[in-house]
Amino acid sequence: MWRSSFIPKDRSGRRKRPDMEDVHGVVIVGGGIGGLATALALHRKGIHSLVLEKSETLRADGVAISIHANGWRALDSLAVGTELRELATLITAEHRVWPQQNKTTLAPTRKELRCLRRKDLVQTLANNLPAGAIRFGCHIAAIDAADPSSHGAVLTTVDGSTMKAKVLIGCDGANSVVAKFLGLSRPSQLPCLGILGLTSYPKGQPFGSEYLHLLGKGYAFGQIPITGNIVHFYINMSIQSTELKKSFKTRDCDDTDTTKDDASKGKDYALQKLQECQCPAEIAETVRRSDPESLKILTRMWYRPPWRLVLGRFQRGNVTVAGDAMHVMGPFNGQGGAAALEDAVVLARSLSLAVPGGVDAPMATDHGLQEKIGAAIGRYVQERRPRVVKLSLESFVMGALLGAKSLVKKVVCAAILGILGSKSRFQANYDCGSL
Ligand SMILES: Cc1cc2nc3c(=O)[nH]c(=O)nc-3n(C[C@H](O)[C@H](O)[C@H](O)COP(=O)(O)OP(=O)(O)OC[C@H]3O[C@@H](n4cnc5c(N)ncnc54)[C@H](O)[C@@H]3O)c2cc1C
Repeated sequence: MWRSSFIPKDRSGRRKRPDMEDVHGVVIVGGGIGGLATALALHRKGIHSLVLEKSETLRADGVAISIHANGWRALDSLAVGTELRELATLITAEHRVWPQQNKTTLAPTRKELRCLRRKDLVQTLANNLPAGAIRFGCHIAAIDAADPSSHGAVLTTVDGSTMKAKVLIGCDGANSVVAKFLGLSRPSQLPCLGILGLTSYPKGQPFGSEYLHLLGKGYAFGQIPITGNIVHFYINMSIQSTELKKSFKTRDCDDTDTTKDDASKGKDYALQKLQECQCPAEIAETVRRSDPESLKILTRMWYRPPWRLVLGRFQRGNVTVAGDAMHVMGPFNGQGGAAALEDAVVLARSLSLAVPGGVDAPMATDHGLQEKIGAAIGRYVQERRPRVVKLSLESFVMGALLGAKSLVKKVVCAAILGILGSKSRFQANYDCGSL
């Protein structure tokens, strides 16, 4: 029996008191979009899990998130799609502007696309979980393999307490401790500046249901309505010099706050860029009147290069990863979060087919249970790998195109995006299937 035979040692080599030991079935590290969606997917299939989140409250970094048809399908599988659609305008047209080339296209959006406030998404996922499903303020510092007879893991928190998980799912973002346990290398950093924010229009926003992309030299500006009164905007810029890094305090996606100083610098910087490209006045106005509390400046973004996803080890016994912990990618195709939702559905489906009663069933009565769980995780990894390689490649190439100076590089990037069907948003129309 796990509870009686496994008493871990603390860092000084002493045995911990048995009453400090905590044994769980499915443990999910990280209560972001990926972790909450995975817990909800498992819950919908009758499998209990425990989410461990290092923050004291729900986090909603990144301001807003565009969700394409693939993400909405996954949210429908989680039975929260209808509720969330109430909070996000359906985008009906995409307007693309290339100021340098004096080129503009306006096309109807053929597949579902809506933008949600992050806090609405994480709150809705969390609200649909049973009470006690999330343990806040639980920061996992290290993962170790469990005793050889089992396939689980031992988790150590920053305050030194330990717990054991029969199944461990790392949804702990780009700098995942679970990914480290699996042997995945640290993700790479993207030389990119991101400025994100929300603008409120109490009397109604003037952009209707149109998504605007402005693709300038070395930067991309996006403006997407969330509701009739709130608009989300972002600016992504490729940065070659260290000048920007010096101007802003280093921030990455795992940081919680943007300082007021950085926010105001970021706003000025964005306005200057928009002025340089002579963008229409109402666009600059969106940035100018943005809600200062909502502004986020990111000077570091992470990505796992697609070639590392091809062979990366995503399973060790009954331990795996999902969301950014598995496939963090740049924001260029707006798919990282939706891919995390897909992961949740596929993983829960695979586990529930293998162990319909959940993993809390007494282990001793079924010696094959561990192997069944391991095989289910293996099928999840097998199903997700080609999908996340394609998404990651798409994002990687889109980012490369943004910073491309030579014609050859631009042509190669455009050709790869053509093969991936990026123009027709082929990847955004993927169906990960039902739970
Ligand atoms: C600028 C930008 C724009 C984006 N836009 C889009 C978009 O429009 N559409 C889209 O689909 N995707 C988008 N993405 C990608 C999307 O934000 C991510 O893919 C998504 O948030 C990943 O969710 P996650 O839960 O896997 O990771 P995270 O959101 O990073 O969550 C990880 C969670 O784990 C917790 N945690 C971390 N370490 C530990 C630990 N050791 N112990 C306990 N808890 C821990 C963290 O506190 C956090 O709550 C964008 C990304 C960026 C950077």
